[in-house]
Amino acid sequence: MLPDPIQNLISALERLPGIGPKTASRLAFYLLRAPEEVPEKLSEALSNLKTKITFCEDCFNITSADRLKCEICESSQRDGSLICVVEEPLDVLAIERIGAYKGKYAVLQGVLSPIEGVGPDDLKIKPLLSRLQKGGVKEVILATNPSMEGEATAQYLHPRVQALGVKVTRLARGLPVGGDLEYADQNTLLRALTGRQEMD
Ligand SMILES: [Zn+2]
Repeated sequence: MLPDPIQNLISALERLPGIGPKTASRLAFYLLRAPEEVPEKLSEALSNLKTKITFCEDCFNITSADRLKCEICESSQRDGSLICVVEEPLDVLAIERIGAYKGKYAVLQGVLSPIEGVGPDDLKIKPLLSRLQKGGVKEVILATNPSMEGEATAQYLHPRVQALGVKVTRLARGLPVGGDLEYADQNTLLRALTGRQEMD
């Protein structure tokens, strides 16, 4: 019974993770009565999101839309024989913040989650395996979150990476279980990274 512009916004918001019909309506009506610059800024940010940002063709981290590869993949200062596999671009930022990692990355863009219907083909697993097949990579660090889904994803990747003759390590325990890499403090993350252990 709502006018189309409001109903359309509610429907669009409802598709976002963690937002139900109630929150979607609340946000829509908030935007309706907010000062004009609030929805304007939001709309501008949303339309720039897909036109100005893209994913690196090697590691699937975010990069600006005018380039094919991200700065890390293009850098000659980074060790291409070491690849750290993470779930999201925010995890790359978290590891970069500690400033101790000199290898490259592979961003899966999610984790395996049967409940949410996310299977191996929904993640950037195939591109990772073909990248490894090209050779030159000595070690893959599985740095998925210490959650059930993160563990399952690491367990899935382990034999497949190992089969390509690449050493597979996992971040050391010590990160809060069920926690998120991006929220771990830098010391904990550094310890988990330097104390990584070969998976058997
Ligand atoms: Zn990259």
